[in-house]
Amino acid sequence: MMTERVRDFLARNPDLEPPFLVLDLDEVKKRYQTLATEMPFADIYYAVKANPARPILSLLAGLGSCFDCASPREVRDVLDLGVAPSRISYGNTIKKDADIRTVWDLGIDLFAFDCEEELEKLARMTPGARVFCRIVVDNTGADWPLSRKFGCEPEIATDLMLMARDRGLVPYGLSFHVGSQQTDPLSFNSAIATATGVMGALRSKGVHLQMLNLGGGLPAHYDRAIPAVGNYAAVIKAALAEADLNGGLKQIIVEPGRYMVADAGTTVSEVVLTAQRGDQRWIYLDIGKFGGLAETIDEAIRYRFVTKYNGAATVPSVVAGPTCDSCDVLYEKNVCQLPAALKAGDRVHILSTGAYTTVYAAANFNGIPPLQEFYI
Ligand SMILES: *Cc1c(COP(=O)(O)O)cnc(C)c1O
Repeated sequence: MMTERVRDFLARNPDLEPPFLVLDLDEVKKRYQTLATEMPFADIYYAVKANPARPILSLLAGLGSCFDCASPREVRDVLDLGVAPSRISYGNTIKKDADIRTVWDLGIDLFAFDCEEELEKLARMTPGARVFCRIVVDNTGADWPLSRKFGCEPEIATDLMLMARDRGLVPYGLSFHVGSQQTDPLSFNSAIATATGVMGALRSKGVHLQMLNLGGGLPAHYDRAIPAVGNYAAVIKAALAEADLNGGLKQIIVEPGRYMVADAGTTVSEVVLTAQRGDQRWIYLDIGKFGGLAETIDEAIRYRFVTKYNGAATVPSVVAGPTCDSCDVLYEKNVCQLPAALKAGDRVHILSTGAYTTVYAAANFNGIPPLQEFYI
């Protein structure tokens, strides 16, 4: 969707040169408030990596959000806004010694890990810190899966948390990620059940975890309708109740990234070239995989395109980016139905591009500057 405020901004600024992203901060605020209302049992840790723009961080800080960071730079960006270190987690499971030290010295006391080697680092460098172990869960239903690279098997998590206790860390909790752009609310049900099993095993060994981190995964509205956030909240609430955690848990965390910012943003791009190659029509935009649309890798995330011709006759079109790299094709397996009249110079609005775009834009590939950003 394109919000009224984005529409107004574009009407008032017809001369801005594409490509650029316009993001409606009111929409982010609405998202935050909806989530806080739907999941009153959870603390919201915005996943900064989705879009770390200062206006977004500043807005969320003002609303009382907490933040999940992946690097010292992200931690500093959040601290600079006056956010207390106690409201920040370092959720990246892959950290350099020097970065752990920096973040620990900045006062952050909540760290993720998912293997013995990372736990050893934390034991060495952050004595007494609260740690949580990321377990691997089924990512079926996610358009952008996050398994394999992250998370350990539940049985290993049990051993690691015992080890954490023995090494002088606080075995604080567990986390998982059901996969980004997770379109099946029930995925949270099985993930919570898996986590509950680990907590039970630890309880029988005298370790009482205090926190469960449900990760991200809440979806944005790309090419298909998605369940409302209330559906996810209902599944999570029921699963937590069924887990019968005996009130032992002090904290439930959610880490929305995509949900919070994706739908608030529209990217304005321009058609550079249309070409007929054999019986296939090609549309080349001024933004592609290197300009910020990296999540089109494997055509995983399928953005919606809007043009001034909408409603007119369409033809199947391959959509590609402007760079001199043959991998810079956005949609070829899933060709797009785009207006037959679309031509070079026309604008194409790419919806729901507020997350995982600006941060993915190359600095200077083919001499193309990073995506411009406007936060309104
Ligand atoms: C990326 C990430 C998130 C955010 O995921 P979304 O699917 O964008 O909500 C949350 N937690 C962790 C640990 C992540 O790496």
